Amino acid sequence: MSDLSKGAAHVYGEIVPVSEAKISILDWGFLHSDATYDVVHVWDGNYFRLDDHLNRFYAGMSELRMSIPYSREELQQILSSCVKASGLRHAYVEMITTRGLPVPGSRDPRSCTNQFFAFAIPFVWIAPLQTGLDLVVSRKQRIAAESVDPRVKNYHWLDLVMGQYEAYDRGAQTAALVDRVGNIKEGPGFNIFAVKNSIITTPDKGVLRGITRKSVIELARTAGYTVLEKELSPAAARKADELFATSTAGGVMPISSIDGQIVGNGQIGPVTQRLKDAYWSLHEDPKYTTQIIY
Ligand SMILES: *Cc1c(COP(=O)(O)O)cnc(C)c1O
Repeated sequence: MSDLSKGAAHVYGEIVPVSEAKISILDWGFLHSDATYDVVHVWDGNYFRLDDHLNRFYAGMSELRMSIPYSREELQQILSSCVKASGLRHAYVEMITTRGLPVPGSRDPRSCTNQFFAFAIPFVWIAPLQTGLDLVVSRKQRIAAESVDPRVKNYHWLDLVMGQYEAYDRGAQTAALVDRVGNIKEGPGFNIFAVKNSIITTPDKGVLRGITRKSVIELARTAGYTVLEKELSPAAARKADELFATSTAGGVMPISSIDGQIVGNGQIGPVTQRLKDAYWSLHEDPKYTTQIIY
């Protein structure tokens, strides 16, 4: 039997080792980035906030006028079949719907048969655990919300990837992209938070509504902090006591410098640490977890 322990994928109705998973080169998901996706993580054999991820995924498909022949229950079964085949207890589980292929000779998206793919791969930390991220405020603008709705998780990543190259060129690890008036939006796969005098601010418009962002906002409000979902200027971010990023791949990730300048005293700030701990505690709360029966 092939080795599924490095990850298992569901492609064209079959479960295969992720390294052998292949899709058609003619799929518009590949040719046009015409796709939506979501990533949920599995922690210690449980999905975290699966319902929120499925809600976002189905809403994205609906907005992009895509459909798949699976109910939520069937989709969950497919995801679980990938996790179970891999045996992984800590995993990322990615689900993708692509536009698919049109009928031969047509360029009409309505003639495409949408395709659904999924895979489970080992959980890896995208940010260093002990230190924080070095971030620059990019000169690049995030694709305008009027052009591509950022609330639909999508693969229009050229702005984000070129932002990363800009960050490397400037001696940092990652970048925050801005909007047309220069306010901070988000980075490659993460939302951004600033803490100043115990008030927490995170951009609201023009960003993906991250599930980790949602968790952190809920946890912060429960802990008594004021959370403002409003514009965050680079000047305000540079003056913050603490900055952090949030994503399914990494949770709450401290940012230790911005544009080459140390944030706070360079250590993980107390609010960031508290929210990070609270976020991981939430993984033991049955309200937010769905057990996988291996
Ligand atoms: C996935 C993603 C995030 C983070 O969302 P989570 O649901 O917390 O993982 C933020 N921004 C972009 C552009 C993303 O693709």
